[in-house]
Amino acid sequence: MKFDEILKKVGDAKLIAVSKNVSENEVLELYKQGQMDFGENRVQELKRKKEILSELNLNWHFIGRLQTNKINHLISLRPTLWQSCESLEMARAVDKRLDFKLDCLLQINSAHEDTKQGVDPDKAIEEFLRIKDECKNLNLVGVMSIGAHEDDAKIVQKSFELTREIYEKLQNHGAKICSMGMSSDFELAIKCGSNMVRLGTILYK
Ligand SMILES: *Cc1c(COP(=O)(O)O)cnc(C)c1O
Repeated sequence: MKFDEILKKVGDAKLIAVSKNVSENEVLELYKQGQMDFGENRVQELKRKKEILSELNLNWHFIGRLQTNKINHLISLRPTLWQSCESLEMARAVDKRLDFKLDCLLQINSAHEDTKQGVDPDKAIEEFLRIKDECKNLNLVGVMSIGAHEDDAKIVQKSFELTREIYEKLQNHGAKICSMGMSSDFELAIKCGSNMVRLGTILYK
């Protein structure tokens, strides 16, 4: 699909171009078409691309699992948004090493899948409020979720609706971003109230 067609479908939601499986050349191509926000799921690769493309002043989002031994490294890269804070414990570990305010999202495992990281939806509100209360260097601005890995659109929809419900309850507590939707399901995610989609594969076909 052409980039402008994708943009049209994304509409008012914000598009994060996930570049984890492509080179800096593809990033540059998208930049030339106006894309400024990119996502990576590995700290080392974020650093590599950020450095190579430093003149472009791109906004880098970290969307992957953060290993404890990579925390300082990630902080030093000053990502625009850490989308994958998966627990109070991880929030504390990052918070105590920060000397600036880092914007972040709480990842919610709305599909209840063992393979997915993120807090249990039943505990999401409580965790969000505790992180907000305790972690003064983190600026918690919303939630992130990966849709259920299912062919049945109804099940995927349920997982998005659950994230959206949690997001709405957190709007009074500073949540502004509801990041959900990937190449295979972003249109459904937007229908369910997403305002930020993270697209990879579809951008490079
Ligand atoms: C890889 C990845 C994406 C993009 O996935 P595509 O299916 O390639 O669009 C979005 N979010 C996260 C957290 C990812 O790891």
